[in-house]
Amino acid sequence: MDPVRHQKRALGFLSGILAKNNVAHALVFTGDAGLGKRQAAVHFAMARNCEGTPDPESAMFGSQGPCGVCGSCRKILSGNHPDVLFVEKRGASIKIEQIRDLLSVLAMRPSEGKTRVVLISGAGDMTASSSNALLKALEEPSDTTCFVLLAGQKSELLPTVVSRCQEIRFSPLPVSFLIESLENDGVDPDLAHACAFIASGSLDKARALASDQGLARRNWLVNQLCALEDQGMGQALLLAEFLAKDKNAAQEDLNWIRTWLRDLLVSRYAPQRVINRDLMGLVNSRSAKTAPEVLLEKLQAVADCENDLTRNVNTRLSMENLCMRLSSGG
Ligand SMILES: [Zn+2]
Repeated sequence: MDPVRHQKRALGFLSGILAKNNVAHALVFTGDAGLGKRQAAVHFAMARNCEGTPDPESAMFGSQGPCGVCGSCRKILSGNHPDVLFVEKRGASIKIEQIRDLLSVLAMRPSEGKTRVVLISGAGDMTASSSNALLKALEEPSDTTCFVLLAGQKSELLPTVVSRCQEIRFSPLPVSFLIESLENDGVDPDLAHACAFIASGSLDKARALASDQGLARRNWLVNQLCALEDQGMGQALLLAEFLAKDKNAAQEDLNWIRTWLRDLLVSRYAPQRVINRDLMGLVNSRSAKTAPEVLLEKLQAVADCENDLTRNVNTRLSMENLCMRLSSGG
């Protein structure tokens, strides 16, 4: 099943505005990667330009959905429709030249479509000058052009851009769906269970966690946590230095650390609720060595660290505090 089928609220809203023919000239779809934003945007562009009869069974927007088989739908699906324009980052960002090229195409009339749809994926990757150039187009709405921006969250965009767009939020995917998808990919069921719980509702994230690289990071962290309890303060400072090096990975590292500590705590009372099921043997042996009140204090240390990071406290300092608290009382 496609992830996008779980976006009932977002899809319901889109079919509503399609039915009333009341589509804002700029929409922003927000939510993590892997929730189906791009697929919904492509089908939305198809629905705006479809020449056939909607197929309510297969289409995403019910009676307002595209047929999926007419010339227009097929061109859009294959990325070859002259009036459905895709913009995404080149290198590290969406550059001003790309937006200028886009604006020069928009200055001409659509060549065959009913509505020109501009789909900007990773809109948060626009440079400030790109955003300002785009803003001009957003400020001068045209009846024939609809912009669909895709972004992780609104805060990635300039407020002036956001204020011109109607936001449609995509929800995190259910854990059960992530487990099923990972199992379909051939991931071991116990591992699929662990990764699905950490993935914050994103299939892309779940797949990254279940990859060899993702698992190596989890296993390394678990080993480090076990070593901390055995080796104390010197090890704590070394680990803190290492964790602070990659601020982008910090949230995921903290997620794994939290679930590991949680597993040690719940395993003695409710083993069926352990998240890292593939490490059950290690969970049981470490759990027997650590008192519940110590684990609760360590979980608090993780929560404090997460709080520090959202308040932009120095990463190295926060990680040192965390690792020292994790190393004590083991
Ligand atoms: Zn069609």
